[in-house]
Amino acid sequence: MHQDPALADAPWPTIPEGLTVLIPVGSTEQHGPHLPLDVDTVIAVAVSTAAADRCGPSVRVAPAVAFGASGEHQHFPGTISIGTEALAHTLTELGRSVRTWAARVVFVNGHGGNIEALERAVAVLTAEGADVGWLPCRHGDAHAGRPETSLMLHLAPHRVDMSAAAPGETASMSDLMPRLRASGVRAVSPNGILGDPRQASAAEGAALLARMTGEVAAAIVAGAARAGSLPGADGANA
Ligand SMILES: [Zn+2]
Repeated sequence: MHQDPALADAPWPTIPEGLTVLIPVGSTEQHGPHLPLDVDTVIAVAVSTAAADRCGPSVRVAPAVAFGASGEHQHFPGTISIGTEALAHTLTELGRSVRTWAARVVFVNGHGGNIEALERAVAVLTAEGADVGWLPCRHGDAHAGRPETSLMLHLAPHRVDMSAAAPGETASMSDLMPRLRASGVRAVSPNGILGDPRQASAAEGAALLARMTGEVAAAIVAGAARAGSLPGADGANA
């Protein structure tokens, strides 16, 4: 029988010992005029679920953390951020709880702004003796551009309004970073997009999802999540 990787669906007596539990970590933040607020959460859940499917029944997916550190998007209505301090504390407590019955905890991150909190939480939990790590969903998008739009066209096309897709600020992240840090996304890109989503496609999204799933599953199997990132990963995602 196929094992449903969603932990929330499982009655407790069916939960075996020695599990690896993936905790998707997303955000609730503006993603331009054409995408919903929960893009990062949707992507983190999709990558976690597909990776768990690939790894087998010893890997399960916890309910997602839907709020992250999104202060840079706070000038846009709809953005709900809990900030780095609260997120780090939340992730630490989630790890402490899950590790009482699971062998291993891996946070699967869908939002670049969460990285500082992830690193803090993983450092604390590791010092406490937990087998814990985090992995990025590495799709290469700055924010709400072609990769994220393609992923959503694959995962939830009814939630994408391509008639509203328009180019945003397309300068490189390294060029934009000082202004982003100082003034937030709205000062850099009035429509909230960093990139150009107009050429996005569901086929490109399917290929991206398969690649990210392969990376995350391989890292889980290899135990590489403990190091905090994928080989060669910069952790960049939006
Ligand atoms: Zn995003």
